[in-house]
Amino acid sequence: MKISDVIIIGGGLAGLMAASVAANRRQKVTVLTYGSGSLPLASGAIDFLNTESPEAAIKNLPAHHPYKKIGVKNIDTAAKFFCHITSQANLIYNGKISAQIPIVTAVGTLKYSSLVPESMNATKLKSKKKIFVANVKGLKDFYASMLVDNLKKYFPDKTFEIAPLDLNLMGGRDITCLSAAQILTGNEKILADGLKKLNATEDDAIIIPPILGLEGNISRAEVKSQIRADIIETTCLPPSPPGIRLQRALMKYLQKSGVRFHENSKVIHGTAEGKKITGVIIGSGIREKFFPAKKIILATGGFYSGGLTMREFDNPKEPIFDLPVFFPTGAENWSNENLFGDKPQGFSMTGIFTNDNLNPVDENGKVLYENLHVIGANLGGVDFIHEHSAGGVAISSAHKAAMI
Ligand SMILES: Cc1cc2nc3c(=O)[nH]c(=O)nc-3n(C[C@H](O)[C@H](O)[C@H](O)COP(=O)(O)OP(=O)(O)OC[C@H]3O[C@@H](n4cnc5c(N)ncnc54)[C@H](O)[C@@H]3O)c2cc1C
Repeated sequence: MKISDVIIIGGGLAGLMAASVAANRRQKVTVLTYGSGSLPLASGAIDFLNTESPEAAIKNLPAHHPYKKIGVKNIDTAAKFFCHITSQANLIYNGKISAQIPIVTAVGTLKYSSLVPESMNATKLKSKKKIFVANVKGLKDFYASMLVDNLKKYFPDKTFEIAPLDLNLMGGRDITCLSAAQILTGNEKILADGLKKLNATEDDAIIIPPILGLEGNISRAEVKSQIRADIIETTCLPPSPPGIRLQRALMKYLQKSGVRFHENSKVIHGTAEGKKITGVIIGSGIREKFFPAKKIILATGGFYSGGLTMREFDNPKEPIFDLPVFFPTGAENWSNENLFGDKPQGFSMTGIFTNDNLNPVDENGKVLYENLHVIGANLGGVDFIHEHSAGGVAISSAHKAAMI
């Protein structure tokens, strides 16, 4: 078995980004993963912090926060590299870590994020006279009238029109955004013909659910070439086409770069000599297989994806290397009822503490393994739900770990 320069455990946003950075350094990269991670559910936007300038706010974060260990300069470099590799798959992202861009949610509120797919960038709404909202017949979980009622609160001076759009995508049966995006990939004319009937001009915008295909910007460019108005996609309930476009864009980059990608490969445990991890083992029983590596990046996604587990309250575990897991003690500090409210969510702070090189440390700050790096939702000390920082922490920690 050939020794990889780096093995990445987990193929979610953090793992795919780390693999891209390492491959760009011409390293021999192996990704071991199972499941699809959370990208197919995610909005596609990359949040860094819920504040006007995440870049400026990072300096006020506590020392244990992963951003403090990564450093502002590295976070900025990671954001730029992310935009660079996604653009190679024709998926254009707008933004930077010193600013926020609005996107329209499925219910018509505005959400702000630092890196936003161009197709969702709603900045231009404020300069438009009229805003059409396409009401695609049969589309599940998209309520144009609710969207308009909410969006009017942000833009009281605009004219809104709900535009019924019968695309007959599945013979009139109910359809999800994902199925609609799949059907429209290569069949963009159906949507363009429907939108043309609105006679919208350059002064207008057309808001549509995220159904502009699954391959980068291709479907959007095709439709836009036939329509004068700006077309802006909203978010949607999962599964989410913009998240899937991002996953595909990153996978394309890895395929081109020769990264060895093993799906359905659950890492069971690692092997170590002193403070060095020598490799990891996948599978179970007679089908176990050893993968040796010089360096390991742990990107297994926290509680959501099984990177952390908790069978008994107050006793969270990291199952592969048995790393110590930080958590806020006491049930009262664990969660609050309002998931996206204005109070912290203790459970999302839970994770592994590291030094500045993202090596896991014990409760005294002593490094446990010198060639193991922890990234993404496995990291402790960051309340990514309250802060709106999951994507930013994932890509910036991935970049830092892969550059070491
Ligand atoms: C519904 C939803 C919406 C979101 N919206 C946003 C948003 O708007 N903006 C934003 O910035 N972020 C958003 N996020 C967060 C973001 O998409 C990622 O969840 C986050 O960045 C963490 O990524 P990750 O790679 O660390 O973990 P994950 O995406 O969870 O990936 C971890 C991967 O590791 C694999 N794995 C676990 N254990 C093993 C093992 N033993 N062996 C091999 N593989 C293993 C898992 O199967 C999974 O594929 C959203 C997340 C969700 C769930």
